[in-house]
Amino acid sequence: HADWTGLKVVVLGLSVTGFSVADTLAELGAEVLVVTERADEQYAPLLPVIGVTLWTGPVDEVPAAVTDFAPDVVVASPGFSPRHPLVAWTRENGIALWGDVELAWRVRDKVVRADGSPADWVLVTGTNGKTTTTRLAATMLVEGGLRAAPVGNIGTPVLDAVRDPGGFDVLVVELSSHQLWYLGLQTGPEPLSPHAAVCLNLADDHLEWHGSFEDYRAAKAHVYDNTRVACVYNKADAATLAMVEDAEVVEGARAIGFDLGVPGPSDLGVVDGILVDRAFLEDRRTSALELTTVDDLAEVGLSAPHIAANILAAAALARSLDVSPQAIRDALRAFRLDPHRIEVVAVADGVSWVDDSKATNPHAAGSSLAAYPGAVWIVGGLLKGVDISSLVAERGAASKAAIVIGTERAAVVAAFERHAPQVPLFEVDHTETEDVMARVVELAAAVARDGDVVLLAPAAASFDQFASYADRGRLFAAAVNARLGRGSVDA
Ligand code: ADP
Repeated sequence: HADWTGLKVVVLGLSVTGFSVADTLAELGAEVLVVTERADEQYAPLLPVIGVTLWTGPVDEVPAAVTDFAPDVVVASPGFSPRHPLVAWTRENGIALWGDVELAWRVRDKVVRADGSPADWVLVTGTNGKTTTTRLAATMLVEGGLRAAPVGNIGTPVLDAVRDPGGFDVLVVELSSHQLWYLGLQTGPEPLSPHAAVCLNLADDHLEWHGSFEDYRAAKAHVYDNTRVACVYNKADAATLAMVEDAEVVEGARAIGFDLGVPGPSDLGVVDGILVDRAFLEDRRTSALELTTVDDLAEVGLSAPHIAANILAAAALARSLDVSPQAIRDALRAFRLDPHRIEVVAVADGVSWVDDSKATNPHAAGSSLAAYPGAVWIVGGLLKGVDISSLVAERGAASKAAIVIGTERAAVVAAFERHAPQVPLFEVDHTETEDVMARVVELAAAVARDGDVVLLAPAAASFDQFASYADRGRLFAAAVNARLGRGSVDA
């Protein structure tokens, strides 16, 4: 690839993604300048080793280091929003602007199957359920005998697959709305063209980054661009079908629906407690293939409605690559949900303590509140510009009590006062409380009785009080176990 040699590239951001971008470009022979506000302790020391220059300093204005460097291309980490001064400057000056996924696609011929042909790409997005569905699909593909890996927003950058010497048949790529916004800028002659793609659902989230719901929606819709075989959509979420209808896809690509209802001839769905596929039939004389049953899912803890929906979406992706129903059944038996996703951390005195810290927006919290109506609900944090009042009106009103945490407590309290004034409210101010979760658990324990559920489903991001959603969930479980007199979280 002679065209990479000497190409001048500015990489914005030095996180796990930024580093994978810089490392890949350096290996290709490009001249790389990494620009970041603060030097990351983990990655900064590695840059001189791979021959990459680091510039750190304020980035609220375009640094002279960038203009002097005169880049041919700028590759932005997904945190950089469309309105960031460096992103705006790049576009105003007509400089190519890529995300990490576009770079990975441009070097896709380096991720190969045993026969040397490039791996297929399968894309997963949606407001909620991305990580679960991505892992489910990858597990099904592996069980079906394909070399597959879950990559992207899930935590392993797509570009890491490029450097995996083992090669892959399929990459299952989880994409955030930020990454999809960057993909929407693609101008090259051969833009990303996935084998199959799904947008699981669409609800308010990340509105501050995108600026408006319409821009967020438009970014998500790019997941279907140039799909070759299957555009998988949620029949219970009309927005996802509309995206498929408007998408520019390769001729012959099919729209495949899924939901928990009775499936049509191009769908996956549920009939009498059996999950079935009617879209991909080897033998046209059969009208449906049995994938698994709700009873079997209950046995392995995967029968909650939103998980069953994610399973159907993942199965649609796997079936589009000819994975057998038996392999899908085996995959589901081997599958374990990640922590902090509707995880029962303790049951004591008839009270269940449930950690759904991963519910970082109202849509996600809605699915766990629906599973546990009447719970003592721990809610609040950073709302990201999203309005919480309809969640409070539709789901929160059934709560036994609500414990409100986080910087934006006032908005949450106001929503309760307006839509659910009967629910008793308790507030915990983290700026005045030494151990927020200990206090939260103390308050919850005082109201919860035999048969009740205490549910941490904040409907908000965690960064005002915690390092991450995982940290928030861990501290919750630790406080619960401390109160119950147990040493460790998994005691
Ligand atoms: P993401 O990667 O999109 O954040 P996860 O699979 O990590 O999704 O799930 C995040 C949270 O979203 C879960 O804790 C659960 O509360 C909720 N959730 C998962 N799947 C769905 C779904 N299909 N519909 C609604 N909410 C969901």
